[in-house]
Amino acid sequence: MDKKNKPLSKNQKIVLDFIQKNKKPVKAYSILSNVKRKGINAPPQVYRALDKLIEIGKIHRVESQNSFVACKVSDCDTPHKTIFSICNSCEIVSEIKDPKLFKQLKDFSDNDGIKFDGYNLEFFGTCKACKNKQPESTQH
Ligand SMILES: [Zn+2]
Ligand SMILES: [Zn+2]
Repeated sequence: MDKKNKPLSKNQKIVLDFIQKNKKPVKAYSILSNVKRKGINAPPQVYRALDKLIEIGKIHRVESQNSFVACKVSDCDTPHKTIFSICNSCEIVSEIKDPKLFKQLKDFSDNDGIKFDGYNLEFFGTCKACKNKQPESTQH
């Protein structure tokens, strides 16, 4: 069975629900304070749920922000291979799904021929929405 379709525990559902509702990645403390209202009081319960959700590919950790974001790619099932683009001004994070890039990374090996089990790439720049907000030339 597809591991993404396994039924989630109640805590996992609550945590996932909160992360999915946010457009931006959320930090653990923000998750903690939110799920408290829903009856999860112990941080370990939240961390366990986060670990599990990462493992089954429902969410990803954005390392540079130490935050969590819901996976929006339906066939993305690997927790240790993530590529994100991050906007420097609004900090919005999008998952990059580029078949060419994926293939290249899959075939990548270092000079000793070592293949790697995972990668965690983050590209930084300005998103479309922010670019449109900033006029090309600002007059001072
Ligand atoms: Zn994903
Ligand atoms: Zn932006």
